Amino acid sequence: MHIGLFGGTFDPPHRGHQQVSQALLEQQLVDEVWYVPVFQHPWAERLQKKFAPYEHRVAMLELILEPNQKVAHFKHVSFTFDTLEFFSKQYPQHIFTWIMGSEYLPKFKDFLVGHPGLALHPFYIYPRAGAAKQPLYSNMTLLDQVPEVAVSSTQVREHLQAGQPVEDLLDQKVIKYVENNRLYQAKEE
Ligand code: ATP
Repeated sequence: MHIGLFGGTFDPPHRGHQQVSQALLEQQLVDEVWYVPVFQHPWAERLQKKFAPYEHRVAMLELILEPNQKVAHFKHVSFTFDTLEFFSKQYPQHIFTWIMGSEYLPKFKDFLVGHPGLALHPFYIYPRAGAAKQPLYSNMTLLDQVPEVAVSSTQVREHLQAGQPVEDLLDQKVIKYVENNRLYQAKEE
């Protein structure tokens, strides 16, 4: 099978992520999409990033799974290259393509410095609203016949903290989960 590996923090998973997976499956670009949530972010400390616990992000992903989609686990430092190598070795019968939003294209040169082997793995590039669609490398395919969805997890967290509606941004089941688990709440004064 041809698997699209969709790595991300998914903090929380939103309608943009769902659209990316659906488009790849609908256009038969992959047989399955495997969401791979970041377990340990490579630059979390340097970027001073904090994420909702892994278990919560996994649980929210499980709520939005559709046919031919699943959550796959890579419980190490979440470098794209290491994740691709891990799954390629673990499942030699499958072909893996990394799915990535186009906003990462300008940074890809830096990724290659640390992991030149990334250039040997295929990538599907999904256009991200407002982001450049270049530079495109020879191992990449730009998906130009897909709808762009202007949603980000940052925007979702900001809306939730401000008490603004998120119906257009999140699946109803994820909204319920966020509420029940009191995630992304406004900070106490
Ligand atoms: P944050 O706002 O916290 O940075 P995010 O919305 O970018 O989060 P991630 O979980 O970091 O979400 O993204 C995982 C992957 O999905 C990345 O490759 C990212 O480019 C892609 N992606 C996220 N949202 C969209 C979107 N609306 N359209 C296309 N690609 C997206």
